[in-house]
Amino acid sequence: MLLPAPIQNLIDAFSRLPGIGPKTASRLTFFLLHAPDELPSDLADALNALKTDTTYCQTCFNITVSGRTQCEVCASPDRDAGLICVVEEPLDVLAIERTDGFQGRYHVLHGALSPIE
Ligand SMILES: [Zn+2]
Repeated sequence: MLLPAPIQNLIDAFSRLPGIGPKTASRLTFFLLHAPDELPSDLADALNALKTDTTYCQTCFNITVSGRTQCEVCASPDRDAGLICVVEEPLDVLAIERTDGFQGRYHVLHGALSPIE
């Protein structure tokens, strides 16, 4: 069955995301097709803002809001600047911050080097 282009385009776009195969992509697309109008609109706004409204902290390379040079952690005078936690991804910062047990700062690598390569 040939799907209209807007539907097939969204299925193809969802399929490019990690962990989402064609079947899940189809389910999400048809869910959005039948959802109240504000849901697809809110989703589109959030996707657009993801790239336009974020930037990297110039100190630790964590993600922060566009227009800021430092993230909240680096800008905080309460943080111990002499204690640096090196993490692979921004989600690692979030996990450590949730423990509320670290008062230092971070350095986010955005990936790891493979010692084999
Ligand atoms: Zn920072």
